[in-house]
Amino acid sequence: MTNLVLKSEILNSVLENKSINREDIIDIYEKSIKNSNELFFTAQKLRIKNKKNTVTFSKKAFFNIINLCKDTCSYCTYKSEPEEEKISLMSKKQIKELLQLAKKYTCVEALFVTGEQPEKKYSEARNWLKENGFKSTVEYLIHSSEEALELGLFPHTNAGNLNYDEMKELKKTNVSMGIMLENVSERLTKKGMPHYLAASKKPQTRLKILENSGKLGIPMTTGILVGIGETIEEIIDSILAIKELHKKYGNIQEVILQNFQPKPDTIMKDSPSANEEYFKKIVALSRIVMPEMNIQIPPNLSPRSYQSFLEVGINDWGGISPLTPDFVNPEFSWPEISKVEDYSKKAGFDLKCRFPIYPEFFSFISKKLRDKIAVIQNEDGYVKEEYWKWQSTLTHYLEMQIQ
Ligand code: SF4
Repeated sequence: MTNLVLKSEILNSVLENKSINREDIIDIYEKSIKNSNELFFTAQKLRIKNKKNTVTFSKKAFFNIINLCKDTCSYCTYKSEPEEEKISLMSKKQIKELLQLAKKYTCVEALFVTGEQPEKKYSEARNWLKENGFKSTVEYLIHSSEEALELGLFPHTNAGNLNYDEMKELKKTNVSMGIMLENVSERLTKKGMPHYLAASKKPQTRLKILENSGKLGIPMTTGILVGIGETIEEIIDSILAIKELHKKYGNIQEVILQNFQPKPDTIMKDSPSANEEYFKKIVALSRIVMPEMNIQIPPNLSPRSYQSFLEVGINDWGGISPLTPDFVNPEFSWPEISKVEDYSKKAGFDLKCRFPIYPEFFSFISKKLRDKIAVIQNEDGYVKEEYWKWQSTLTHYLEMQIQ
């Protein structure tokens, strides 16, 4: 199949680099219900054109800094209550020890995750801050990010709704930051819907934070949660909202498409998982709407079929950790990196380890951060293979003091 022989006029326009509107995207989706071949073909054609045969991942350690959260999303199992066994209140010592272990495993990214403004609701969180010598969770994150950088690990913070000044401060040490848009639908915040008890997930609030990240020039990760009871129009509006933000500020470095999986201890425990064919169509539509964007699916959430997503437009597997669990989806362990590499190779793709910032966004960060990246960076802006693959070179790199 070559260009301009598709039955769909709209998809032919896409392949000719012509812009399409919301109605066109809805039309593409509706036609794909009967047959998705042309949609997937177009998405893959755009993926190859823009990303060639590279697929990336980030070798990370997940720091579950504090999982108390003032909100309640109906699908979330990450959030803990103080009396629950899964509570995490990492001390400075625990953070330091995990950073050192992550370094030994030649991880590159230190992913710092917290619940939403825990100290606003829980005395346990306020006490935890006090014990460790901080006034706020953000202060703690700033400290932890500095520690990570000192060891040559690159922080990426995802701590919910941070304000402009907090993000500005974290930008000094974080090479990128993250916040999921989830969905722009107000309907999903109404009574009985997944975001009803989560004020922080109000679409306008999230969009404002993404706007702030744009104003601050922070390379930003965002994304959409697929399969939580949304309509296709709501998904398309969410994709378009991200596209619009990126058009305005140019700082959205990647879009995560996360398929909903029900968790036993949540309000949505009996809801079905996101349908795989539907999810693939969302992935393909995202590629069509944003041909040059880095588009990611987490491989652990599609354990039996993640490799098939290489055929519908993705170019990134996100963070994969060789030593810590996915605390957001604890029942889904990450695949071994070597397996991901094998599957990618079989599908015709080269797996490359990226920093938590994509090479095309290096100009967004300070020289100080770029210099630290340069220590283990290859000529294409990815992590040197001999660093992330070869444990035997570890001693050499540990000896290198990153100034
Ligand atoms: S998804 Fe985030 S904001 Fe929602 S309950 Fe979980 S930790 Fe809190």
